[in-house]
Formats: sequence, structure tokens, C-alpha cells
Amino acid sequence: RVNRTDFLNALDEVQPAFGVSKEEMEQVVENGIIHYGSIVDDLLRSGELFVDQVRMSTRTPLVSILLHGPPGSGKTALAATIAQASQFPFMKLVSPDSMVGFSESQKVAAIAKVFSDSYKSPLSVVVVDNLERLLDFTPIGPRFSNSVLQTLMVLLARRPPKGRRLLIIATSSLRPVLTDLGLSEIFDSELRVPPIASLSALSLVLRELELFSSDKERQKAVAMLTQAGFSGEDEGVSKLNVGIKKLLTIVEMARQEPEAVAERLTAALMGLGM
Ligand code: ATP
Ligand code: MG
Repeated sequence: RVNRTDFLNALDEVQPAFGVSKEEMEQVVENGIIHYGSIVDDLLRSGELFVDQVRMSTRTPLVSILLHGPPGSGKTALAATIAQASQFPFMKLVSPDSMVGFSESQKVAAIAKVFSDSYKSPLSVVVVDNLERLLDFTPIGPRFSNSVLQTLMVLLARRPPKGRRLLIIATSSLRPVLTDLGLSEIFDSELRVPPIASLSALSLVLRELELFSSDKERQKAVAMLTQAGFSGEDEGVSKLNVGIKKLLTIVEMARQEPEAVAERLTAALMGLGM
């Protein structure tokens, strides 16, 4: 016999054709958000203000923002976090990861579908992740998909139908390329997501991840990094320059060797783009 519980279970199993794709959004923030500095809170607060603007203001039914910064600085995770926090009834992530093997026209259709679905909801947020990869941009040539570019140009600027409001959060690691492609003027606002460049921020990440058994051990490791030539200052000769994504990987690698954690960490950080 089918009872009410079965019915409710079945409902849970049905993936909505459109609407909230919660899992997608959660997946890209799998490691959470570490508050390693005021910049993180500033970015999240700015995002919240744009969400409020879309929610409240009748004059701005469309708001688009661009999160840009070096590879691995946390753009996708921050975009998804801002989107999720909105609690808008329609939230969707447009990601090149979900379009592997798509032809140009399939990509165009998939992108257009997300936007036309969003127009059915009174309040929507669409994350357009990694613009350069969506565009199949390659610096050699340079080459990119013109049809995807034309589609994005139109959709990023199109006002939703009357009574509908939409927030678009795009991400990119290649900010200058967007200017060349004529895409950057489209955004209402830009937020830069910087890499981790100070030892104090690094230290906070290490504390959060509990890489060391005590604060003393952690401070010793930070001292070792200072010795190795890393500056504690944000300005000047600071050589520290690591995206949070990469740092998380480095920390997990260092953890594998309990006797030489600090050494492993220093070696890995020194090996980065100096
Ligand atoms: P790419 O340039 O490759 O697209 P990205 O800049 O989009 O990389 P993410 O994919 O967002 O970077 O990776 C950031 C990772 O770091 C995520 O796993 C996220 O959970 C984690 N993370 C921890 N703290 C933060 C933070 N303060 N901001 C952003 N991401 C964070
Ligand atoms: Mg990303």
C-alpha cells in the first residue's frame, strides 16, 4: 500500500526541472568558507547588499556583478555562498563543468534555458561561473566561441519580464580578457577576490584547519615561513601568494607527513610562482 510517507519520499526524489539546485551550489563550497581576513567578510557583505538591492528596489530588476581574481582565489565558492544566502526561490549555477562535451549550440541552448527558467520566478539568482571557460577561451590565437559570447552579451544585459527580478553573479580569472571581448562593461559592479598574501591570513587558515596540534606549533611554522623569506606585510616584498583552493590542497598534503608538517608547508609555498 502506498501511504503518505511514500508519497512524500517520492517528492523528495523528484529533481525539479527548474528552481533551486541546492546540491550544485553546495558542492562548490564543499570545504566551507574560512574567514581568514576582513576581505572575506567584506565580499560576503557586498554580495548581501546586491541581493537586498534586487529584493527591495523596484528600479533595478536586474543587477549583475563580476567576481574576479587569480585562479583558485575562491570566486566560485563565494559566488555560490552569496547566491545560497539569498534564499531566492530560483537559484541556478551555470558552470562549464556541467557542459563538458557540449557543442557550441548545446551550450548556447543550456545557458538560454537557465535564463528563461529564471524569468518564471519573481526572484532569481544565476551564477555564471568561469566565463572564460564557458567561452572556450584560449590565449593562443586567441580563440573563443563567438556564439556563446553573443548569447552571454544579450542575457547578461536583458531585463527580466515585468515583475521579475534577477541577480547575476559571474566569475572570471581573466579579467583583462573580458574587456577585450567587450563583456566587462555589462556588469553593474565588480568585486576582486584576492589571493592570500599575508602570513596572518595564512596562520588563520592553518588554525581553522587544525593542521598543527597546538598554537605554539603553528606559530613555529609561521616563524619558519618568515625565516624562509616570506614577509608578514601585505605590501612590500611579500612573496606569499596563494589561492585558498591551492592552500587547502597544500595543507592536506602536509598533513600526510606528521613529522615534517612545517617543512612540507614551507617547501610547497616556496614552490609557488616566485
Ligand atoms: P578557479 O579559479 O579554479 O575557478 P576559484 O577561485 O573559483 O577557482 P573555488 O573553486 O571557489 O576557487 O575554490 C575555493 C575552495 O576553498 C572551495 O573549496 C571553498 O570551499 C574553499 N574556501 C575556504 N575558505 C574560503 C573563502 N574564504 N573563500 C572562498 N573559498 C573558500
Ligand atoms: Mg571557479
